[in-house]
Amino acid sequence: MDTTLSEDKATQIKQAILAAEKISIIMHHNPDGDALGSSLGFYLLLKKLGKKVTVISPNIYSELLAWMKDHERIIIGNKNKETCLKKLEQTDFLIMMDFNVLSRIDWLEPIVRKMDCPSLLIDHHPNPCNDATYLISDTSVSSTAELTYECIEKFGWVDKIDRDTGECLYAGIMTDTGCFSFNSSVPRTFEIVASLLNTGIRKDMVYANVYNNYSYNRMKLLGLALKDKLVNMKEYHTAYIALTQDEQKKYHFQPGDTEGFVNYPLSIKGTRFSALFLEKENHTKLSFRSIGDFPANEFAAKYFNGGGHLNAAGGETNLGIQESIDVFVDKLAEYAEKLK
Ligand code: 5GP
Ligand code: MN
Repeated sequence: MDTTLSEDKATQIKQAILAAEKISIIMHHNPDGDALGSSLGFYLLLKKLGKKVTVISPNIYSELLAWMKDHERIIIGNKNKETCLKKLEQTDFLIMMDFNVLSRIDWLEPIVRKMDCPSLLIDHHPNPCNDATYLISDTSVSSTAELTYECIEKFGWVDKIDRDTGECLYAGIMTDTGCFSFNSSVPRTFEIVASLLNTGIRKDMVYANVYNNYSYNRMKLLGLALKDKLVNMKEYHTAYIALTQDEQKKYHFQPGDTEGFVNYPLSIKGTRFSALFLEKENHTKLSFRSIGDFPANEFAAKYFNGGGHLNAAGGETNLGIQESIDVFVDKLAEYAEKLK
């Protein structure tokens, strides 16, 4: 399976894009800054090339991302099912952003599987699936947004990146690198950021919109999480937070409100692994973060039907929240050696 972007492949993809009449871009469900930024950034660029493009998200995105140019044009699949299905039916080139397996698009998986138009997948997660005509996957880049920039450059369209596209791609890089604090950013990341800065992007605006734009309730929920719900398991260099539905409701939980919560336990000196448990209606959603070589993605895949990157992963389980915590604690013991 060829995941690289050779000159030959770039030419083929470019031709396929230019030949397409109706392009759709789809991102993973519960889209984050990288999924949304890559999708909208590429959408804006293709629009500039005169293409007819639709962006689809399986479900709603966080308010904190509702500043990107044309975000209001995104079709929220589970809210506008009919339009979404019609658009996919008409699609003659499908672009998939920021996911490695089709299960990440949730309820749209069977629909996309049935589509027979050519497709392109741009992603940076390990173990990419083989469900696209053209696969561009690179785990060494910080973000899908960074890889999208590389594609745009290979296609010869860098001069088409304007401030709006630049701000979307920058948001993807900024959020996936934890504002350039994770080890995922490399010299090339900063070269790309420099190039985006030259398009006139308002990086302070992007930062403020994403990180200084929380609701009062979100801050109170974070307060509760840190004061009463943070559990420190010193023996495993692990700490976690679990929030029940009642606790979420008390602070009027909105999508995206708990974004970033999972990073806080890692600020405790000596902590190498952190987890966030969110009780949902019929399942428990988990987020994991790790430092160094502890494989958060392996842990997520093995016990919680998930996956992700080495240091940032997630999963889901049908277990209740307390049962999930019990499994988590139980399995930590198996990883005790690696957590030393
Ligand atoms: P987050 O904790 O921010 O929701 O997700 C961090 C990373 O973990 C994501 O970028 C994604 O790669 C991965 N991830 C999160 N949830 C899931 C999941 O349910 N399944 C899989 N395969 N990966 C997930
Ligand atoms: Mn990403």
